[in-house]
Amino acid sequence: MGYLFETHLHTSEASACAVSGGHEVARAYHENGYSGIIVTDHFFNGNSAIPRNMPWKDRVDLFTMGYKNAKEEGQKIGLTVLFGFEYAADGAEFLVYGLEPDFLYANEDFDKAGVKRMIDSVREAGGITSLAHPFREASHLYGFRLFIDTDAIEAVNAGNRHNPDFNRRAYEFALDRGKLMTAGSDLHSADSVTCTGMMFDREIKTSSDFVAAVKEKAYKLMLCGEEYEYVPKNYAELK
Ligand SMILES: [Zn+2]
Ligand SMILES: [Zn+2]
Repeated sequence: MGYLFETHLHTSEASACAVSGGHEVARAYHENGYSGIIVTDHFFNGNSAIPRNMPWKDRVDLFTMGYKNAKEEGQKIGLTVLFGFEYAADGAEFLVYGLEPDFLYANEDFDKAGVKRMIDSVREAGGITSLAHPFREASHLYGFRLFIDTDAIEAVNAGNRHNPDFNRRAYEFALDRGKLMTAGSDLHSADSVTCTGMMFDREIKTSSDFVAAVKEKAYKLMLCGEEYEYVPKNYAELK
């Protein structure tokens, strides 16, 4: 037993590719037994639903609506809802955790900071970054993603479940580099909850609880309701 937490999900308020709103998403996770979720919509440099030609504050207001709606619903039904976002740059995507929306209000043009400055600023503010699905093959993921100094690697992503090698390589890479690991669904629709995420040995109530528990490695990586089992590839067999 433990506390199941989603770390990677999108809402239709802010992500152009998502189909369900924050309220609906929160209910779906609650019904599937999660104790909490982190809303990680695509930021302005990714597949964003937010118009460009508006003042920064108004854009951040709109960007955080999915999170706010999920949080409102979470408070009614008893689901912890935390803020995060997914930052796209240099042909790679990065999950950002441990910060509050205030961070974005205070950092105008953060979408243009670039990977290095983004990672450093997040760390300075007490947050952590996780390199999202580093071995997924997709046309928008073309960057040299593995040389980037994130705190964690997204070792397990439910969107990769039909290509087990994408997760296996990510896990192997994180293991090899001694990186922290995260696991998440990359959910885009409330009807596709798969019980993927991180199982913590304690209840997570705030963003700083989350960061502390990840740093202490107080988690299990879950894929479709089961603890992720890394099976090294037998390269000798391939010869
Ligand atoms: Zn998306
Ligand atoms: Zn995503």
